[in-house]
Amino acid sequence: RAKAQGRGRYAFFDVELRERVQRHMLLEQELRHAVPRGQLWVAYQPVVELASERIVGAEALLRWTHPEHGAVSPAEFIPLAEESDLINEVGGFMLRTVTREFAELRREHGAELQINANLSPRQLGDPRLHDTVRAALGDAGLPAGSLCLEVTENALMLDATSAVRMLRGMRKLGVFLAIDDFGTGYSSLAQLRRLPLDTLKIDRSFVAELSDSDDVQAIVTSIVAMAHAVGLTVVAEGVETAEQLDILRRIGCDHGQGFYFGKPAPLAEFASLRGIAAP
Ligand code: C2E
Ligand code: MG
Ligand code: MG
Ligand code: MG
Repeated sequence: RAKAQGRGRYAFFDVELRERVQRHMLLEQELRHAVPRGQLWVAYQPVVELASERIVGAEALLRWTHPEHGAVSPAEFIPLAEESDLINEVGGFMLRTVTREFAELRREHGAELQINANLSPRQLGDPRLHDTVRAALGDAGLPAGSLCLEVTENALMLDATSAVRMLRGMRKLGVFLAIDDFGTGYSSLAQLRRLPLDTLKIDRSFVAELSDSDDVQAIVTSIVAMAHAVGLTVVAEGVETAEQLDILRRIGCDHGQGFYFGKPAPLAEFASLRGIAAP
């Protein structure tokens, strides 16, 4: 098809591809300095109990603000970190920062909030992860039960056996576990039952179609029913409208997260949200 559109098309692809490769190499170089230069920080997005609209926790999302390139999305730099071995440094920074900041927040506000942090596939495959998590919790003085680690279905496919072993070890520490972006991969709840999961997060692509599609409503209804049947708490991702909230409530989904409740924000901003501070 590209050929039929003539030579200009090739040239266009060429330039675009070269620019992409150049940005990739540049960012990978820059990422090496991001931790020591203090360019990484953590944003917190509220997780809300749908029935009461009370904030029950937050998801920690990594942010990279580069002095020249501005904000670089984690969707772009986490894969770079994964490819280049930087994921251990970046992931370690993330876990230390989140546990320290959240322990502070809980002390100041006396709030029983849970903090969710994401693990990438390579982190999950690293045998040192268990010690990294235990040390981060210990140093911060954060109880293991207030941390929930999110993993995607992909992360489990890399090396399922060692991933399952790692997750069981985490669960023994007392850390909770969530399956992230559920519905985007190919695994079923039946396959996931080998894992010591506590929470299932429904991917935001389903939530986005809830209002317009009866089929999607039916799918989400059955995901929630199945998850509840095996004792999982369900979180809907990407809630943006009051209508989506209504439907999710009716379906019986437990928790929600999304721009409707709050965008990812620096800790101080998260801490000032209504419903965080103890009365
Ligand atoms: P995720 O774990 O599924 O995180 C949710 C993403 O959805 C976040 O994007 C968040 O900003 C976005 N989001 C939240 N509410 C809404 C909404 O109402 N509408 C829309 N359109 N989007 C919403 P973000 O922060 O860009 O992160 C993207 C992905 O990068 C994350 O997806 C996660 O897989 C990865 N990531 C972020 N931080 C980390 C980290 O510290 N470690 C690892 N391994 N991965 C991370
Ligand atoms: Mg997540
Ligand atoms: Mg997610
Ligand atoms: Mg997602």
